[in-house]
Amino acid sequence: MLNGEKKIARPLRWAMIGGGRTSQVGYKHRTGALRDNTAFQLIAGAFDIDAERGKEFGVNIGVDENRCYPDYRTMFTEEAKREDGIEVVTIATPNGTHYEITKAALNAGLHVICEKPLFFTVEEGEEVKELAEKQGKIVGVTYGYSGNQMVLQMRAMIEQGKIGEIRVVDLQYTHGFNATDQGEKTSAAQKWRVDPKVAGPSFVLGDLSTHTYYMSELIMPEMKIKKLLCDRQSFVGTRAPLEDNAFVMMHYENGAVGRLWTSSINAGCMDGQRIRIVGTKASLEWWDSKPNQLKYEVQGEPAQTLIRAMPYMDETCNADERLGALHQEGLSEAWANIYLKFAVAIDAKNRGDEDTLKSLVYPDIDAGIQGIRWIENCVRSADNGGVWVEFETKKLVQA
Ligand code: NAD
Repeated sequence: MLNGEKKIARPLRWAMIGGGRTSQVGYKHRTGALRDNTAFQLIAGAFDIDAERGKEFGVNIGVDENRCYPDYRTMFTEEAKREDGIEVVTIATPNGTHYEITKAALNAGLHVICEKPLFFTVEEGEEVKELAEKQGKIVGVTYGYSGNQMVLQMRAMIEQGKIGEIRVVDLQYTHGFNATDQGEKTSAAQKWRVDPKVAGPSFVLGDLSTHTYYMSELIMPEMKIKKLLCDRQSFVGTRAPLEDNAFVMMHYENGAVGRLWTSSINAGCMDGQRIRIVGTKASLEWWDSKPNQLKYEVQGEPAQTLIRAMPYMDETCNADERLGALHQEGLSEAWANIYLKFAVAIDAKNRGDEDTLKSLVYPDIDAGIQGIRWIENCVRSADNGGVWVEFETKKLVQA
């Protein structure tokens, strides 16, 4: 159980790039990082592309005026001159900026926590991984809901054979907020999401499905995708070539099959992510509209609803428990759990504690690269006419 007591010797000196007043995701980072007073301290930032607005915002959230910088390069230079300079930076800017800023941060000797999708290409990911290793730094990726404890419960139950051999993987991350092009007209955040120069090679595949794909990897670490087929559409035509809807079919190496639906035109849908894993004996199902519950359905027996924090849950699940079973946890706690793991990973890296790093389950740079690989494969399949592609290589599968 977590109660805010320290997990590392002292809080890390932390800064943000982006995540300012108009940003969609900035507050989620702060509620995550600052939930445990003992993990991170927000002491600097280049919060906004608009320097004045960024400074005003930084001051309003309690950051020293002199440490609210006009841009990230100035922040890296000025903070490096201080004995109490920043040690870790979060990058919460639009996708197309992640690669350059991550490299600059690592070269400035900082650990990095970056938004997804991490970069545009796997090659960029491999290059930055090498740089991070050379610099002895961590790169974490904020797949927010992957910090929900039910993900670890599912992982433990599958490992313990509670559902038998996995046969079917059914994933969904959809919403209806882009059923029309209204967002592109009124929201800067939606406008860049459908511009390939800023968003990268995909819209919803990167924006939404990378989360669910990562969670499926966390839940089923032994399951490897052998090949996949993706069909993507832009129902609002101005979004082409980027998709606002996609279906992906997967074949796994153990013979299991899967499907993923991702969409932002699922009109009326307010339940984002759903994960159902079907085994030979039973199924597990989690839906983020009821994040404290896990359905466990054994064939031939009454269905069970497992509740977060109860003593019958796995110890790996309850290790991240904060509020007790009577009270609901949700997205904020999931973010706090991820940020706490980033802090522990950074501290372990600083101390050369490889054992802690190996045993810690959190979205690291490999998870970020795997998310890019997922997008690359989906786009390659879809843009070749919806054909099967081999996942780990760049081959199309012969008909
Ligand atoms: P947004 O457009 O709402 O906000 C972007 C913010 O970055 C703004 O404050 C903007 O002023 C600032 N900015 C842009 N360029 C900058 C620069 N060079 N230097 C400093 N600040 C800069 O975007 P958003 O929706 O918050 O998305 C940001 C990132 O977060 C994207 O990569 C997106 O995919 C990701 N995201 C992740 C989640 C999640 O659950 N993990 C949720 C939403 C968004």
